[in-house]
Amino acid sequence: MAQRTWLITGASRGIGAEIAKAVLAAGDRLIATARNQADLQQFSTDKDALVLSMDVTDEAQVKAAIATSLEKFGQIDVLVNNAGFGLLGSVEECSAEEVESVYRTNVFGLLNVTRAVLPSMRQHRSGHIINISSIGGYRSSPGWGIYGSTKFAVEGITEALHGELAPLGIHATVVEPGYFRTDFLNGSSLRPSAVQIPDYAQTVGKIRDVAAGLNHQQPGDPTKIAPAILEIVNTDEPPLRLPLGTDTLQTIAEKNAYVEQETAKWRTLAESTDFR
Ligand code: NDP
Repeated sequence: MAQRTWLITGASRGIGAEIAKAVLAAGDRLIATARNQADLQQFSTDKDALVLSMDVTDEAQVKAAIATSLEKFGQIDVLVNNAGFGLLGSVEECSAEEVESVYRTNVFGLLNVTRAVLPSMRQHRSGHIINISSIGGYRSSPGWGIYGSTKFAVEGITEALHGELAPLGIHATVVEPGYFRTDFLNGSSLRPSAVQIPDYAQTVGKIRDVAAGLNHQQPGDPTKIAPAILEIVNTDEPPLRLPLGTDTLQTIAEKNAYVEQETAKWRTLAESTDFR
């Protein structure tokens, strides 16, 4: 198989770093990016790697980094939009600033990188965009409403990309990890809302406790995400959605059953609104 070039956002640690290591181990070329190039030292000496500072929220820096990448490698075959962080709080507790900040990285940042990479992929009539969503992008729940909504946006964007890009020879896949053992639930990544309202103690408060208890005890093994992603990149017809982890599979089944049951219950009312 020909050597491919991957660009990964948020490759300094966690899922992004694991994918980056697997890319080099597979003999492919790597463009590893994170906010601070110094955090990407583990890749900087590899002859097949380019490390670049790229804060996905800074569109000018994104455009410059993509231009540098294309100058060096000529083409980006696989883009992994992985950079992201979590915000934990009820919808009401999260301030406008906190909401805007998480959207700037998880949604607008992903769009900045995607817009910068697509002209070259379209020109080559090939490529694969892999957007890292979450199980929270399929089913939302108390405490994760704002974070989940950024991932619902990623799901919606990827579904549209899938339809828009297939005729141009470019694949789009959205990956839905469950809880994986990274820094995601650490204070370094997960931001709790600054405001906590006592009325939410029984709902969101309990989720805060669960998240603290689960930190570095998550069931998902981040080293196993990379082989799964390599496998779908190597198939002729990659999936639109790739759920990862048994917790994710269970949550998807629960949501599908709920939607099915509720839609059946309200079908007559739903059918009543067409012109007759
Ligand atoms: P980590 O906190 O371990 O890593 C997050 C990565 O994102 C870091 O490399 C960080 O790089 C990067 N990042 C954050 N903000 C920016 C930014 N503005 N520009 C560029 N890079 C940025 O978390 P995970 O590895 O667990 O998370 C990776 C992705 O997976 C995220 O999108 C997350 O939402 C998603 N996810 C994770 C799950 C889990 O349980 N771990 C579950 C479901 C989804 P740096 O700070 O060095 O710039």
